[in-house]
Amino acid sequence: MKFKSFIKIYYPAVLILIALLSFTLYAWLEASADYKARTNKLFEQRAFRVGEIIGNRMVDYSQILRGCQALFDSSKEISVGEWETYVRGLKVAENYPGIQGLAVSRYVAASDSSKVSKELRGLNLRYKITSPFEYPVIVPVLYIEPFNKRNERAIGFDLYSEARRRDAIKRAITTREPSITRKIKLRQETHADVQPGFLMFLPIFSDTSHTRVAGFVANVFRTHDLMGALLNRYSEVDLQLYDGTTLSEKHLIYEKTINSSSYNRLKGPLVFDTTLVVAGLPWRLIVSPNENFGSTIERQQPFLILAVGVILSVLLFVVSYNNIRRKGRIGVELQKTLALEKKKDEFISIASHELKTPLTSIKASIQLLERADLKERDKFMLAKAGNNVDKLQALIGDLLDISKIQAGQLQLNKEDFKLSALIRDCIESVGHIYSSHKIEILNIIPDLIYHGDKFRLEQALNNLFINAIKYSPGSEKVFVDMGLSQGIIKIKIIDEGIGISEQNIKKIFDRFFRAEELSPVISGLGIGLHISNEIIKRHGGSITVTSELNQGSIFTIIL
Ligand code: ADP
Repeated sequence: MKFKSFIKIYYPAVLILIALLSFTLYAWLEASADYKARTNKLFEQRAFRVGEIIGNRMVDYSQILRGCQALFDSSKEISVGEWETYVRGLKVAENYPGIQGLAVSRYVAASDSSKVSKELRGLNLRYKITSPFEYPVIVPVLYIEPFNKRNERAIGFDLYSEARRRDAIKRAITTREPSITRKIKLRQETHADVQPGFLMFLPIFSDTSHTRVAGFVANVFRTHDLMGALLNRYSEVDLQLYDGTTLSEKHLIYEKTINSSSYNRLKGPLVFDTTLVVAGLPWRLIVSPNENFGSTIERQQPFLILAVGVILSVLLFVVSYNNIRRKGRIGVELQKTLALEKKKDEFISIASHELKTPLTSIKASIQLLERADLKERDKFMLAKAGNNVDKLQALIGDLLDISKIQAGQLQLNKEDFKLSALIRDCIESVGHIYSSHKIEILNIIPDLIYHGDKFRLEQALNNLFINAIKYSPGSEKVFVDMGLSQGIIKIKIIDEGIGISEQNIKKIFDRFFRAEELSPVISGLGIGLHISNEIIKRHGGSITVTSELNQGSIFTIIL
């Protein structure tokens, strides 16, 4: 089938498909946009919170240093034991996870290094100052807590000797504020689990007016430990943290990426890029959602809508396509049946007309013969022949009527007449043909004048009387009852015959319908009731039936 003719026949199904698919597409786009908007908002909140946590926590760490600074303000000399007690009191591991250690360093002229060396010797003979002594000052680490193998490696190290540490120290001296280094490799690092680190310095003074810097207290951080502890609840975002504002591996101090380890991956549509100022240095924070972000169900919702929508659209298309196909087939069948019906009607009409003429001439011949002087036996035979010709003429008349009804050409010639007289005439004429039964009048309204087609009404009544007789072979009587109430005339023809089954009662007015079980026993064509019903309908009335099998039937003409 060509596309054009396909569309012509199946356009309702195609329209349904297009409409449903469009609706599905719309719903999918809406759901996707909605999901995107919600995700964006949620992500923004999360990313902002990450920045907030880091910023706040770094402020907390500065506060620790201020506490340490106050300790040195209150007592000029703090021994290693006192420092240990103080730091233990802070419960760093529990309250400030991520701090590798809290260190104290001296700030002295390089020429005074022997003084610090003495101090170090006092602690343990093993420690000595490690410095190239290239600068006029040295900042050697004196104490560090908690005291462990890793931290011990820092004691005696001249913080001033390394550029990044030196920068932060200088800044701390200038600003008198907490100051962090850029990314460094801590002295504490061994070969295993090497992490970027940084230090946060705050000066301590030898006088209470904070003019002479005596040294520094410092927080020591290993960034993976620190950020891991801070952000362990934020597994659904990836993040990169850079010291400074340049995005380069050199400045990357912390990275958490689920999918890939490169910061180049940060090209997705959802990226939160912000700069925090942490203890005097800018830190650039980049957050992006990873594959754990958002609930799986929510993420799949738009796709589910799309899938279900497409499946439903296709299903409904198939259903309506099949429906149209089936109807098309039924339509073709119906047309075939109608064509056959038409041929049959034409045949009946032609055959009846052809039969009518010779039959009229037979009837005329019989009538002529009846006038002749015949023997009794011949007269009897002739009467019988005349009777059968009458029956044949009635039958042909019925067939012609059927054709007329079909063509909508059943004409009525109306006049006023007494209905009671018509009923009596019918009883008489039927009585001539069927002598087996007596038609008894139960009620009759003698002077009721009716305006209608007398001949056609007689035809309908005769048919009902004949049926009542035909279909009550076991009884001898048929009754007629006439009534008038509120301008409605009811004529009932009652028999005590074989009755009609419930199933058949609906079809008895159909053309050519006969109860199958009767066909071989009682003759008939199944057209009488159809014609009678049509005649009564044309008079604005109706025929109703009540019947019980083997009890009898009541046909009521309502006019
Ligand atoms: P016909 O009598 O020639 O078969 P009708 O159109 O007059 O055709 O009747 C149609 C069918 O209705 C009959 O074949 C018969 O089965 C049923 N029928 C009609 N009148 C009666 C009746 N009084 N009692 C029982 N069955 C009847």
